[in-house]
Amino acid sequence: MNILREFMQFIQASPTAFHAVANLRNMLIRAGYHELNEGESWSVTAGRRYFVTRNQSSIIAFRVPERGASHFQMVASHSDSPCFKLKPSPKREAQGYAMLNVEKYGGMLMSTWLDRPLSVAGRVVVETEHGLETRLVNIDRDLALIPNLPIHFNRDANDGVKLNAQVDMLPVYGTAGADIIALAAQQIGVRAEWIVGMDLYLVNRDAPRLWGASNEFIASPRLDDLECAFCSVHALINSASSDHIDMACVFDNEEVGSGTRQGADSTFLSDTLERIVSALCPDRQALPSAIARSFMLSADNAHAVHPNHPEKYDDGHRVAMNAGVVVKFNASQKYTSDGVSQAVFERVCKFAGVPVQRFANRSDILGGSTLGNIANTHASMPTVDIGLAQLAMHSANESAGARDLAYMERAMRAFHEAEIDIVSDGKIHVHSEK
Ligand code: ZN
Repeated sequence: MNILREFMQFIQASPTAFHAVANLRNMLIRAGYHELNEGESWSVTAGRRYFVTRNQSSIIAFRVPERGASHFQMVASHSDSPCFKLKPSPKREAQGYAMLNVEKYGGMLMSTWLDRPLSVAGRVVVETEHGLETRLVNIDRDLALIPNLPIHFNRDANDGVKLNAQVDMLPVYGTAGADIIALAAQQIGVRAEWIVGMDLYLVNRDAPRLWGASNEFIASPRLDDLECAFCSVHALINSASSDHIDMACVFDNEEVGSGTRQGADSTFLSDTLERIVSALCPDRQALPSAIARSFMLSADNAHAVHPNHPEKYDDGHRVAMNAGVVVKFNASQKYTSDGVSQAVFERVCKFAGVPVQRFANRSDILGGSTLGNIANTHASMPTVDIGLAQLAMHSANESAGARDLAYMERAMRAFHEAEIDIVSDGKIHVHSEK
């Protein structure tokens, strides 16, 4: 199947980070990857492929070569997107309506969540006769909506409206008496009273779609960062095996600062690296030397120039959709790219015939941050920040270039198939093995 069609199915089936990780896990199992459990001792052997999850919302997959490996080549991305989370007692009623009590998860453009079909998805904890078990929930139908106030009561609506998450963003999901827990229970075939815990989110129901005169754009929820997450696992599975350990790491909670048990600012990556190296090599110096010789792509989407507001973008560093993979730069190191990591990645893209664009913010605009620099505080290696150019980042419905997804996947495959040999500090050889 065409990779774009495959991605569109993936994103529609991934309303939350839990679902995204479950779907990536299924892709890996189908490709012969073996699941490891963090709570058990690991035996990792040459020539085999593995993955491990944490909190069901982060996943690290890796492939061990037949011949002894000296380092890792990894891609890091994130599984979460800005949305609203249901509070622990979510049921409210007002004026005869059944409402949900929600709070913000991450920094979304709130107005884009108004007047569109929404639903509820995530994870619940069910009490069973064997103990507590989690179940994924996706109420896969138009269930909820956050109505705008009519313009007649808000004459200044087109001059900018301040939205208060406590007041303006509570969705309606029926008439008084409706019960969200009962609906979730029904969807997974359990009794409502068996649900004893939950991590449920309000999610956008829009299906991904192509648009434009030549269908050159894709509009969809969660393009940031499921485009990079999907490409990273697809490229790991579909790249030729190499002489180093290839990895795809997808972390949750980037949108709320990464500082969680399963985020990029956790021990998940460093624990995994340590366990792989100790299983393959008894030498106590093997881990730091393997990490020092490793290389990371920190993959998170970038801002395509907005045609109505080009003044918001730096003259000389504007990037476009369908023009290839973006390398992101920031002198304050919100992005990890430097001259060395840029040169290595751009060489890999050259091997693959993938066009590259360079992005930097205006010097008077702060811009965003991502996960590469955070992951580097736990496992430090040369890293480059990359992404795909998209419009309307953190809108409920973002847009990107329909041709770019294949560029990113090809660049990531070429990255795994290249041998990046860090000979000494300041000396790197990059060979294409194909
Ligand atoms: Zn992102």
